[in-house]
Amino acid sequence: MWSPLIRPIKNRYLAYFARRVIHATCPESYFINYMKKQQNPFKEATYALTFDFDFEKDIDAFPLLLDMLQKHEIKAGFAVIGKFVEKYPDIHKRAVDEGHEIINHTYTHPDNPHWAPKRYFNKLTYVEQKAEIEKAHEVFHKILGIECIGFRTPHYGNLHTESVYPILAELGYKYSSSSAASAYNGYGAPYTHSHGIIEIPTGCSIHFPLAIFDSWNMLRKNKPFLGDDELFVNEFAETMQVIAEHNLFLTHYFDPYDIIENNKLDKICHILNTSNTQTTLYRDLFHQHSS
Ligand SMILES: [Zn+2]
Repeated sequence: MWSPLIRPIKNRYLAYFARRVIHATCPESYFINYMKKQQNPFKEATYALTFDFDFEKDIDAFPLLLDMLQKHEIKAGFAVIGKFVEKYPDIHKRAVDEGHEIINHTYTHPDNPHWAPKRYFNKLTYVEQKAEIEKAHEVFHKILGIECIGFRTPHYGNLHTESVYPILAELGYKYSSSSAASAYNGYGAPYTHSHGIIEIPTGCSIHFPLAIFDSWNMLRKNKPFLGDDELFVNEFAETMQVIAEHNLFLTHYFDPYDIIENNKLDKICHILNTSNTQTTLYRDLFHQHSS
């Protein structure tokens, strides 16, 4: 009854107001009712952990992040950019060797301050967007020896464009993970979008069902939803309880430099391993279908 409420509201201010009201009054029931409408392709409670490597400080966090995932025996998806793979091949090779999944996050990550300032992905032409994705694909193939099948738009929904789907189809890709669950079909689960491409929307959390659960919204921005690392970890734990209880699918992305601070990643991995939920990679979605 709740779920169709927000998405059709095209007026930004009305949508903002509706979100505030729901977050302030009935977030848990909204979250549960919304998520229960999804068709979980894995049938059982499943979580996909992903990270976006956008800045040098994310690369600095890479070794510790890999150590932590190794300690907890969790495989994750890494949205990485071609320029960084060229600059730091060894740490990316380690990620591949340890069984993690590489997600194409473009060659330069427009508007990355190092290489592509004042260049915005949604302002690029079709040909330029395709070149950004294709060039990263070639770098991953040459340096890491992999054939990437998934993509994430730099800056997600804000700069995400529909032109991505035909490009991905042309390149033989299988999925994109570039939208917010609350603003997309599928109720937080993978869903066929267009041109045969599956969109895997990034998920939310139990008390903020109409926001993306990431460190930007929860901790970093001006007036963050939580603003405290302990609350952040607790929010994750409570959310995972619901996922386990109702056999749901959920995926989040985190910023590497941020999530390793104050042992947040260590705690999140521990919660994942004790929550009656299996973890998965996006690519497993396609393996299990073909098997
Ligand atoms: Zn990014």
